[in-house]
Parts: sequence; C-alpha cells; structure tokens
Amino acid sequence: MNTSDLPPSADAVIVGGGIAGTAAAFFLSRAGLRPVIVERLPALASLTTARSMEAMRAQWMEPENVAMMRESIEFYERFAERVGLPDCDLGVHQPGYLFLTARPDGMEALGRRVALQHGLGLTDVELLDGREVRRRFPYVSDAVTAATYRQRDGWLAAHEAALGFARASGARVVTRAEATGFRLAGGRVVGVETTRGPIAADVVVIAAGPYSGRVAALLGVDLPLRNVRRHRVTIGEHPLIPQTAPMVIDQDTGAHWRPERPGAALAWAQPHEPPGEPTDDVRANPAFVHEVMEAVSRLCPFWEQVAETLKVGQVYLTAGQYTETPDDKPIIGPHPDIPGLYFNCGYGGHGIMAAPGGGRLLADLVTGAVDDRDNPFSFRRLARLDLQPPTPHRLL
Ligand SMILES: Cc1cc2nc3c(=O)[nH]c(=O)nc-3n(C[C@H](O)[C@H](O)[C@H](O)COP(=O)(O)OP(=O)(O)OC[C@H]3O[C@@H](n4cnc5c(N)ncnc54)[C@H](O)[C@@H]3O)c2cc1C
Repeated sequence: MNTSDLPPSADAVIVGGGIAGTAAAFFLSRAGLRPVIVERLPALASLTTARSMEAMRAQWMEPENVAMMRESIEFYERFAERVGLPDCDLGVHQPGYLFLTARPDGMEALGRRVALQHGLGLTDVELLDGREVRRRFPYVSDAVTAATYRQRDGWLAAHEAALGFARASGARVVTRAEATGFRLAGGRVVGVETTRGPIAADVVVIAAGPYSGRVAALLGVDLPLRNVRRHRVTIGEHPLIPQTAPMVIDQDTGAHWRPERPGAALAWAQPHEPPGEPTDDVRANPAFVHEVMEAVSRLCPFWEQVAETLKVGQVYLTAGQYTETPDDKPIIGPHPDIPGLYFNCGYGGHGIMAAPGGGRLLADLVTGAVDDRDNPFSFRRLARLDLQPPTPHRLL
C-alpha cells in the first residue's frame, strides 16, 4: 500500500477509504485496473468502518442479500488466502447469530422465515423452540418462545479487513485528499478534483459512506440516502457475560449483544432516531447505555445484574451513522446517464458483512462481466422505489 502524492491519472479513482472503498479497490485491481483511493481523513477505515459491531450473517430473507452475504462470509473465512496476504488475520469468530422472539406465535412466525431461507439454499439455519433455545443457551429467558440460529454467522476485525483489502489491492492510497468536484468531457466523467490536486480517470467510484450523497451532489446527482446515528456500547470484563455466546438479537425489538473478549458489545437501531447531516463527530447520547442494557435484559435477564454491578471505566460508548437507502439495500454500480460514474455506498448497518460481495459485484459491473440490468443493487432501481424509510427491525 502506497500512501503518497496524487498521481496525474489512474484507471479508477475511488472516493473514500472505508471498507466499501478498499474492497472496491481490491476487486478492481484483481480485474486488471490500476485504482487510486482518495481519502479525506488522515487514515483509512477511520469513520463508520471503525465504529461498527463488526458482525456478519447470512440469515436474510431476500435472495440477493442471502447470496451477497454468503459470498462475503465465505470470502472472510479464507481472507488471507483470498487476498494473498498470509499474515493477515481477521480473527474471524463463528459462534453464530441467534434471533430470539417472545411472540406467542413465535414458532409459526420464525418457522415461515426459516422455510423461506431453506428455500433460498440457506439450509443450515435452525428453528429452535423455547426449550431447545434454553438448553443450548441457558442464559435466555423463559419468555422466549422460539429462535433461529445459524452457526456460520459471526464477527471479525473490520478495520483489519479494510486495511487488508487496501494492502492487497496494491492501490495508491492518498490520504488528506478530499474529492471536491468532478471533471466531465462530453457528458462522461474523466476525473476528480481533490484538495491535493486533480486526477484523471475514466472510472470514478463514490464510496464515501455517510458523505456519498454530498459527493454525488457535486455532479447534480440526488441519492436517496439518509444518515442515522447508531450507537455501540463496549463493556469490559464481567463474570456474568458468557464468552461462548453467539450474536444474540431480540427479534421483537432489534436490541442485540455479543461477547467481545473479555466483555461484550451491545447495539440497537432504535426506531425513533431522526436522520441527520453526515458528520465525522457523531455525538453519542449517554442515555443509550441504560436504554440498550434494559432492552437486552428483556430476553437475557443476566444483563440486569451486569448493569447493576458495572463500574465506572467499564463502559465505552461510541456512535457512527448508518447510511440508509429506502429499500435497505446498497447502491452498487453505474449511473445510467453519466458514463464513468459508479456507486458503492448506502450499506446501512451491513457494510462490513457485505463488502466482499459488493466489491466483487462493483468490479464485475465496471468490466462488463455483469450487466447492470441483472443487478439487484443498481442505481436505476431507486427510481421505482417508494421513498419510505426502511423498517427498523431489518436494520440490524
Ligand atoms: C454502531 C454501528 C454498528 C454497525 N454494525 C455493523 C455490523 O455489525 N455489521 C456490518 O456489516 N455493518 C455494521 N455497521 C455498518 C458499517 O459500519 C457500515 O456499513 C460500513 O462501515 C460503511 O463503510 P463505508 O466504507 O461505506 O463508509 P465509511 O467507513 O464511513 O468510509 C467512507 C470514507 O469516505 C471518506 N470520504 C467521505 N467524503 C469524502 C470525500 N469527499 N473525499 C474523500 N474521501 C471522502 C470518509 O472520510 C470515510 O473514510 C454498523 C455501523 C454502526 C454505526
């Protein structure tokens, strides 16, 4: 990885050096292009990618999401080999994702979901009744009526993944370089203006995370993105936190937690959070610590005791932004009317788990290996959408 001056030209310029930008750089370089990443901050992967829960799951309901996440999980499982960096260890953990419900009709509701997932080829998702859930996961409340579980879901070191993609891509990385405009010739994009000078390129990818809408607006393109604050609480060592637990999600509310040695990480995409402007400095709300611990206590009551016995200095609260689209799917691929302009953004709460599949698709769209008409994440689909915010429980 080369962090240096801006070259005069590149085959592709990627605006943004988070996980979406670095994954795009890796797959574009594997496709034979010479990419350059321009990143306005002093370091790669230091905005949203640094603030996530770092988790991945294939338990989705839509065929395109199941396919993308399976592809990505398989990639992460063999990351060092796939990117060709034998020393790159993402610390992949696969104790699973456990979705819990206390609904009286839990078995029927989750049963329908599992049947659909099996039909999509995700045959390793298990449907558990309340008794079986408590046998396997004894810290789960008696109120739980059913759960779904897939052991190959889990988590990884997202920051290392982004740096690994960047290093393996061989891309030149230019930090403290903010894209401030585009160069156009004959209606097509031919380069980018940055705070460190211009760079010519026939392919420009907007992978600017929460700022993607602003970058697209420099070209007069309106992206239907909204940025919503999301918190993460990290708890230090506590004897009551089971370190072998999976990611545990209250399916009825969306509150979730997982062990993070020697403590845990907790999050919750609360439905009442309003959208805001993109920012580097997302102010965390201290009340969230109490709110999320109360929420996860509902189906895992040991959290009440953890909350009562927590000491000052054991809690670390951070916040970032989900960059959401109306259908909760990323925007990957070309702008239909501006040749040379591509998107790899709008990943919401799923950009870590989707990055390998999304980056691979982006590269295939750039090279023509995939036709945009066959692309479920295309920009052009947005015109057909009802522009309502996504449903909160799907934002995990
Ligand atoms: C609390 C929380 C929990 C999450 N948990 C998970 C999870 O468990 N699993 C999961 O898959 N996802 C999770 N996510 C979502 C995930 O973090 C994001 O989807 C992902 O990090 C987005 O990556 P990105 O590269 O698109 O954006 P970013 O990481 O934000 O990177 C964008 C980069 O673009 C740069 N940039 C912006 N404008 C410009 C410009 N004009 N010129 C140059 N550079 C520019 C920015 O400085 C930034 O570095 C979570 C997010 C949050 C906030």
